[in-house]
Amino acid sequence: MTEISCDQISQRLVDFVEGELDPEKSAEVKAHLEKCDFCQALLETYLKTIFILKRVNQVEPPPEMVIRLRKYLWSKLNL
Ligand SMILES: [Zn+2]
Repeated sequence: MTEISCDQISQRLVDFVEGELDPEKSAEVKAHLEKCDFCQALLETYLKTIFILKRVNQVEPPPEMVIRLRKYLWSKLNL
């Protein structure tokens, strides 16, 4: 199996997590993750981010909150 760099792993991580990597590449990522603390930490951070985003999307914010948020953003952006 060819060695791949952390840089290549980070590029493949999104597809790896989404299960869109072909089995060969996926195995390379897994093999690398077993040896590399840096990429493990990267994966963990990535998974946490996805988890948070999915949770946020699941919960519909109340309309008044959306309006308030939009007003806040507009005031910040001077729109
Ligand atoms: Zn690595």
